Amino acid sequence: MVNEKSIRCAECNKEYNKLDNIFHCPSCGGPLDILYDYKKVKASLDKKEFLKQPANHWKYWMFYPVKSKNKVSMGEGGTPLIKSKLFDNVWFKYEGTNPTCSFKDRGSTIEVTKAVELGVKKVCCASTGNMGASVSAYCARAGIKCRIFLSGSACGNKVKQIQAHGAEIIQVKGDYMEALKECEDFAKKNRWYLMGDYPYRGEGEKSVAFEIADQMDWIAPSYVLAPMGNGTLIYAMWDAFQELQTIGLTDRLPKMIGFQSEGCSPIVNSYKKNLNSVEPVENPRTLATAIECGNPLDGKKALIALKDSEGFGETLTDSEILDAQILLAREEGIFVEPSGAVSVAGYLKVRKKLGGKIVCVLTGHGLKAL
Ligand SMILES: [Zn+2]
Repeated sequence: MVNEKSIRCAECNKEYNKLDNIFHCPSCGGPLDILYDYKKVKASLDKKEFLKQPANHWKYWMFYPVKSKNKVSMGEGGTPLIKSKLFDNVWFKYEGTNPTCSFKDRGSTIEVTKAVELGVKKVCCASTGNMGASVSAYCARAGIKCRIFLSGSACGNKVKQIQAHGAEIIQVKGDYMEALKECEDFAKKNRWYLMGDYPYRGEGEKSVAFEIADQMDWIAPSYVLAPMGNGTLIYAMWDAFQELQTIGLTDRLPKMIGFQSEGCSPIVNSYKKNLNSVEPVENPRTLATAIECGNPLDGKKALIALKDSEGFGETLTDSEILDAQILLAREEGIFVEPSGAVSVAGYLKVRKKLGGKIVCVLTGHGLKAL
C-alpha cells in the first residue's frame, strides 16, 4: 500500500500527479515535495504492533512513496542514538553504521525501490562521493546499471567504494554543480533515470527523524542540529517531525539548526539576509567536501525548515569542523568524516543559545575520508 497523494512544488506550490516522472517543478524549476493522505497513513499504522518494533528505516513504510514489498534493502537505518559523554542533554545520531557508512542509504533504498517499480534499467547520479557510493551499492543489489558523475573534490576512498560496486565513474573537472549539470544533461539526452537530491530521496531521509523520535520514546527533542549541503536532509527531518505530529505519534516539534562551512554557505547567507530563496555562491571551497554544494537543490526547502521550526542557520570555519572531528574521535570514541562533525562543531559554537534535549546528526563514517 502507498499513501502518497500528489507532488507539490516548494517554490510555486503548483501540484502535480504522483505518477508524473518529474525531478524539478516543470513550471518554475523549484524543488518538489511529496504529499500524503494522512488519514490513510494513520489507518495503515497498527499502533500497538508499531510501537513494539525496533527503530529501523522500513518500520515507517507508511510514510514512504513506494511499496515496501518491492523494497531494495540492506538493513539501512536503525542507527544508534548515542548519549554524549562530554555534554549534558546531547545525543549523537550516528549514521556511520549504515550499509555504505552514511545516511545516504536511507534515500537510496527509496530511490532504487522506486526505480525498480518503474522498471528502470539505467540510472545516473551526480555526487561528491557519499551519494555515489550509496546509489552504486543499491543499484548493484537491484541489478541496475549505474553511472556516477563525480565532482573534483571527491576523495579517494569514496571513489574506491563506487568502483567496488561496479558503477561507471565520470570524473568531472569542476565542482558538484558542474557534475550535477553534466549528469542532468546526460539523463535528459539519453533517457537515463536521474537519482540524487530529488523528492524520492528526501522521503527516504525522513527516517533519521522518525528514528530519533522513536528512540526518545516519541518525545521530539528540543533541537536537532545537522550539516547542510543541498539542504535535503534538514528539510526531510523537519517534514518527518511534522508528519509524526500530524498523525499523533508525537505532540511537539523540535527547532532545526543547520550549519555550513564558511567556504560554502549559500543557505546560511540567504537565511541571515532573510531571503525567500537561496543565492548561489561561486567557487565553493570546504574541507567538508560532502557538503560542498554552491547552488543547493533543496536550498529553498532548507530555508523553510529553519524558519518554520524557529531554528536558525550558522556558518563554521573548516578548522572548527576539524576540531570537532578530533574531539568526537578522542573524547567520545566516534569517528566521523569532516562533514559528519559539522553538527557538533555547530553545537560548540551556539550551545549557549540552546536548552532541553539536543540531537546532533553525524552523517558519515570517518573511514570515508581518510
Ligand atoms: Zn514550481
